[in-house]
Amino acid sequence: MDKTVHIALIGNPNCGKTTLFNELTGSNGYVGNWPGVTVEKLEAPLRRDPSVVLTDLPGVYSLSPYSPEEVVSRDYLLGGEPACVVDVVDATNLERNLYLATQVRECGVPCVVALNMCDLVEKQGDSIDVDALSERLGCPVVGISALRRTNLDALVEAAVEAGRQGTASPAPAFLTGEVADAVDECSSIVAPHVADKARLPWYAVKAFEGDGAALEPLGLPAASVAALDAVRSGVEARLDDDAESLVTCERYDWIEATVADCVVKAPPRLTASERIDRVVTNRWLGLPIFVAVMVLVYYLAVSTVGTWGTDWANDGVFGDGWFLSPASAAAYDEASEEYADNDYSGQVDAYLAAAEEAGVSTEGVADAVEEGDTAVVEDFASRAQAAGVVATDVPVHDADGNFLDSEGNVVLTDASDEPRLAAGQTLAYHDDVDAAAFLAASEAAEPVPGEYGIYVPGIPVVVEGWLDQAGASDVVKSLVLDGIVGGVGSILGFVPQMVVLFLLLCFLEDCGYMSRVAFVMDRAFRRFGLSGKSFIPLLISSGCGVPGIMATKTIENERDRRMTVMLTTMIPCGAKTPIIALLMGVLIGGTEGWWIAPFFYFLGLAAVIVSAIMLKKTKPFAGEPAPFVMELPAYHLPALKSYLLHVWERVSAFIKKAGTIIFVACVGVWFLSNFGFAGWEGGDGAFGFLPSMGAVPENYMDFSLLAAVGGAIAWIFAPLGFGSWQAAACSLSALIAKENLVSTFGVLFGLGEVGEGSTLLWATFQQMFTVAGTFSLGAMIAFVAFNMLDAPCFAAIGTIRRQMNDTKWFWAAVGYQCGFGWVVGLIINQLWELFALGRFGVWTVVAFVALAAILFQLFRPMPKARTGHAETAREAA
Ligand code: GDP
Ligand code: MG
Repeated sequence: MDKTVHIALIGNPNCGKTTLFNELTGSNGYVGNWPGVTVEKLEAPLRRDPSVVLTDLPGVYSLSPYSPEEVVSRDYLLGGEPACVVDVVDATNLERNLYLATQVRECGVPCVVALNMCDLVEKQGDSIDVDALSERLGCPVVGISALRRTNLDALVEAAVEAGRQGTASPAPAFLTGEVADAVDECSSIVAPHVADKARLPWYAVKAFEGDGAALEPLGLPAASVAALDAVRSGVEARLDDDAESLVTCERYDWIEATVADCVVKAPPRLTASERIDRVVTNRWLGLPIFVAVMVLVYYLAVSTVGTWGTDWANDGVFGDGWFLSPASAAAYDEASEEYADNDYSGQVDAYLAAAEEAGVSTEGVADAVEEGDTAVVEDFASRAQAAGVVATDVPVHDADGNFLDSEGNVVLTDASDEPRLAAGQTLAYHDDVDAAAFLAASEAAEPVPGEYGIYVPGIPVVVEGWLDQAGASDVVKSLVLDGIVGGVGSILGFVPQMVVLFLLLCFLEDCGYMSRVAFVMDRAFRRFGLSGKSFIPLLISSGCGVPGIMATKTIENERDRRMTVMLTTMIPCGAKTPIIALLMGVLIGGTEGWWIAPFFYFLGLAAVIVSAIMLKKTKPFAGEPAPFVMELPAYHLPALKSYLLHVWERVSAFIKKAGTIIFVACVGVWFLSNFGFAGWEGGDGAFGFLPSMGAVPENYMDFSLLAAVGGAIAWIFAPLGFGSWQAAACSLSALIAKENLVSTFGVLFGLGEVGEGSTLLWATFQQMFTVAGTFSLGAMIAFVAFNMLDAPCFAAIGTIRRQMNDTKWFWAAVGYQCGFGWVVGLIINQLWELFALGRFGVWTVVAFVALAAILFQLFRPMPKARTGHAETAREAA
């Protein structure tokens, strides 16, 4: 026989269930979803007694059948699995919490009421007569504090005892007068069909309310249904209200009387929390305060502390290496800067070339310069001087080998690498070099990091060393270094920034501030059909969409949650900033303004709001946003352990994605861009690893599988103005990770790993949108818009899948994102072509039709919505 005792925890949101659950089980619970819905299911054995299994049910205000949480909870209670239910009640808000208790008591499941947050009650100076309450409810009531861990043993004992005993004590009479009589009448009608008599009070009330879903398992014959309808409509007509509201009123009457008898309230005073709330949720100050707080958060996470960490991770751990001490790093930086400024290499080359021309032997001199062998160098210098060598006419190059003009700008080159000067532009030349400069050059060796302090080599350097030692082939080296370490590393490099961001955001959440923000934002968002709770995911998504999507869990209403999952990644995340920077570079020459990131943030917000308005008018999302009911817990310092756990949960989810989805994707892209058929001149046409094939040209990627795939889908983007395989391949790789776009672009155009701030990159980027000799601004903006709005990266797409927990909804979300991005791109490009270039075609018409459809959907009145939740509305009031 299975001796496991199942105990269910039920209660209002924020009543402390999860805190209690973690305390009792040691929080090593199994987290899953309830079958069929994206509602979290938590289950774990008791720390004290593993034969008792605790289930943390989702937070609900009642057992009505309106939300998936409510359905899940009541099905589970009535399903017979839990031997006992512990109703966790927030003792500081008995009036509202007891409502659920009255319903739970009717279910016929043995029940213990856990009166939680007794510490707060005490602090407020109130007192609750636990025995009197227990007598009223007809079940054990135990006063506890989950946070302070008081009285938890007594609670467990009472629950296990009630569970082992197995029979529920009869429910007290919550209803009175005519309603009670009518429910009694219903009770006798359904009684023959209810096997477990303990459940009768529950079914009787449901029968009176006409809750079809609840009655379904009884299989009532038509005659009984008709009899019930007669009872109900009789009472409804006489009392002039619907049955459900009548029952609700009766329950609240009972609760009012009970609270009046069992609770002694201290005279009210304004708590510190209430005083703070007067300011932060103020109608006028609320929003500005919030904006200031967020600017500070992003300043710390993105502009200062977080960036130091991310630079360290990207350039150090996943780059060449890093110094243990910042002082050595600074000394090394100074030395390398000086070395780079002097650009000795050009002078050395120029001098050697001049000497050779004058017939002086230069054999071994270059090596001697590098090795600092002054004897050889000096000997050469005196020979050269004797021959009267002075080198001039040496063009200046930058670190990437580009020519520079006299202003220090990059000069474009033609196909044979000769500089191509624009009118009025002159090349920059080195000053004359002579023996003295040459000697200086020979003494200035490139600084070696090891000489400046303890230097830890970066992972790629270490791995490359191992591979060389193991004699790995070029293919393996390329796969490991470019594919895996490079790709996954670039994602993991974001971790320090994420840690700082989540440390700050989780603190704001745990101390209670974010609940206030949701409340403040609700006032604004309600107009667009979104609830205030949708705001937090949007906010988090500006860091990264993955935790943003996960944050939708706090949205109880399923329609709102789905819509938020769908739209939240339209907010530009950290990985999209390189794309923004690239566009700004081309448009305004790279003057990096502090307003750029917020500007795109608001553009993304506009896309979200436009989409929300349009979607709200479609059937699956129709209806008022659920009334915003949210407990505003008192401000408090979060408990360190649960706070750090909370941060770790977010960060680890991000790391896990990098280790799984991104890992696979990186290997995939590496394979596609390096393998193909060697179809170039001199190639043998065979399939293989392109870089090591015979006579490999620089543009070997044109022959890669990626080029083939990009070419095959390029037609999709032709109406948007960017139908080249490179643009398509960039968009594809952006689907894997948005920050891939710029690096893929760099690789495809043979620019190597150039930063988004390089003028050469901007010039090349413009060339990608040049059709028949004219650059199309519209196509470029369409390209950026599409890549900002379409489906996010693999990691976020995977998270959408997990959150939706439904294939159809998942594809609907990805489809909408890509479709919306495509349409916006189409409209931008076609309008530009029409008004700036005077081109008109079929796609122009399509663009206008799409624009008209969007405007129509935006401005048509809201279709008549089905009316929603009588009950939740009441609670909101
Ligand atoms: P759930 O939504 O029911 O799972 O509630 P949580 O367990 O997430 O708790 C909501 C908030 O109430 C958290 O900030 C807890 O720290 C706090 N909390 C839970 N139990 C107690 C308690 O006994 N006393 C106090 N003062 N706070 C508590
Ligand atoms: Mg919880």
